[in-house]
Amino acid sequence: MTEYWVSQGNKWCDTCKIFISNNPASIRNHELGQRHKDNVARRLNTMREDKARKDKELQQAARVVERIESVSGFILQFRIQPRESLRTLGFE
Ligand SMILES: [Zn+2]
Repeated sequence: MTEYWVSQGNKWCDTCKIFISNNPASIRNHELGQRHKDNVARRLNTMREDKARKDKELQQAARVVERIESVSGFILQFRIQPRESLRTLGFE
């Protein structure tokens, strides 16, 4: 879950947006710390909210497609004449 970027003996905690000393004790200490845990929880919540929003957008898009398909079906059903046919019939 947590991504690290190593630079000059420090590790970057992408979840907390801070540098921590690049040694096992300090990393362990950081990961067990309340601040890091809170940030991980917050990050998960944000991801969940993003997903819920995207799902909703997809559902709305699906409804639009459905509507377009039903209109197309309606047009086909009643065999509306293409522009050329109208011209042939003298409507244009
Ligand atoms: Zn952290």
